[in-house]
Amino acid sequence: MESLKAQEGGEEQVKCVWVHGPIIVGAGPSGLAVAACLSHHGVPYVILERTNCITSLWQHRTYDRLKLHLPKHFCELPLIPFPLHFPKYPSNSYASRFNIRPRFNQSVQTAQFDPCSQLWVVKTNGFQYISPWLVVATGENAEPVVPSISGMDKFRGPIVHTSVYKSGSDYKNQRVLVIGCGNSGMEVSLDLCRHNANPYMVARNTVHVLPMEMFGFSTFGIAMALLKWLPIKLVDKLVLAAARLMLGDTARYGVRRPKTGPIELKLVTGKTPVLDVGQVAQIRSGNIKVMEGVKEITRNGAKFMDGQEKEFSAIILATGYKSNVPTWLKSCESFTKDGMPKTPFPMGWKGENGLYTVGFTRRGLLGTASDAVKIAKDIADQWMTVKDRSYCNSHIIFLKST
Ligand SMILES: Cc1cc2nc3c(=O)[nH]c(=O)nc-3n(C[C@H](O)[C@H](O)[C@H](O)COP(=O)(O)OP(=O)(O)OC[C@H]3O[C@@H](n4cnc5c(N)ncnc54)[C@H](O)[C@@H]3O)c2cc1C
Repeated sequence: MESLKAQEGGEEQVKCVWVHGPIIVGAGPSGLAVAACLSHHGVPYVILERTNCITSLWQHRTYDRLKLHLPKHFCELPLIPFPLHFPKYPSNSYASRFNIRPRFNQSVQTAQFDPCSQLWVVKTNGFQYISPWLVVATGENAEPVVPSISGMDKFRGPIVHTSVYKSGSDYKNQRVLVIGCGNSGMEVSLDLCRHNANPYMVARNTVHVLPMEMFGFSTFGIAMALLKWLPIKLVDKLVLAAARLMLGDTARYGVRRPKTGPIELKLVTGKTPVLDVGQVAQIRSGNIKVMEGVKEITRNGAKFMDGQEKEFSAIILATGYKSNVPTWLKSCESFTKDGMPKTPFPMGWKGENGLYTVGFTRRGLLGTASDAVKIAKDIADQWMTVKDRSYCNSHIIFLKST
């Protein structure tokens, strides 16, 4: 395989690859989980990954202080639980345990179903992969969302997205504007405080902030346990009462709560509550200043909706991420224009014509695990009915160049 080159004799040649099994796009936790479950059923596959490593989001696009916020049993992938002393990136040991070897530097440019042959044709730089099954595992967070705010081009300091933010040590003694008050915005603001920077956090939207733990147990774990016995609205009331007791009324400090409760909001819209790991104390003490929406960026800072104007040395965009599926999956009715499956959880994992989606449930790794098990079983059932597959030892066959 290594000897095959996409460039031959100076002329670009596209290698055509018949994949004996499904093509999985993306080697994040979702792609790895499907691969492991397929191996478990004895089904071969190919994973295509645009970067040069597995779990690239976790390895390249996270800030230094980021840790899993949920107890690890809510973040486990199928087939093996995390060991007691699990490593920093548990997915690395997961990949080696199941001998998962993605094809790296294979950015999928287009994927399209060919109705004549009933096959998926997936194109990367230099290769064309063909298979009856396509598993979309490129994630809900494939690309950073960069808003366009009036005057951004005039600002004389750096404007960076949280995907490239590493540590507050770069901003020591600086006044920094953090735009966004979700988990990333709050954590970056906290990190800036801990490095003696002076963060101003813009909280334009409402957000639920919950203690990470209540009475020594994970808040998320408690809510999930209560949900087995109580209606969701009552669980939300209890969680909010405890949150108020522990954190006070966050609206007093500019962080307003949505009308819908945190667990209902998470399950219905996927909007994750912020788990407090020290941010609220910093907001209360005035170390993180909460601002209303930004009206305009100026050369030296920003003007706010309430009429204030401040100078800043840097701006950090904690404005989230989006799916990139619409940019590469062509002529497909299964996804919305935002790149999310049209059919909601728990049925969104299966599309038409051998198309599958994993990790688009807005339920984090718990949703991934549920999708992966179903997808592998469904493909394995079809795989078993394919009679003559003994003609080849490899699951990849290179066809004549096109
Ligand atoms: C800052 C941050 C913190 C988070 N914290 C948590 C948490 O505590 N718990 C939790 O459950 N979830 C958390 N999440 C959600 C996170 O998205 C999931 O944990 C997990 O990374 C999702 O896995 P995935 O495989 O679906 O997507 P990703 O991890 O995004 O993996 C998708 C892979 O697809 C590749 N890819 C994308 N496009 C292409 C293409 N065109 N061709 C080839 N490859 C492509 C990417 O390079 C990437 O490797 C967090 C997300 C962020 C951004």
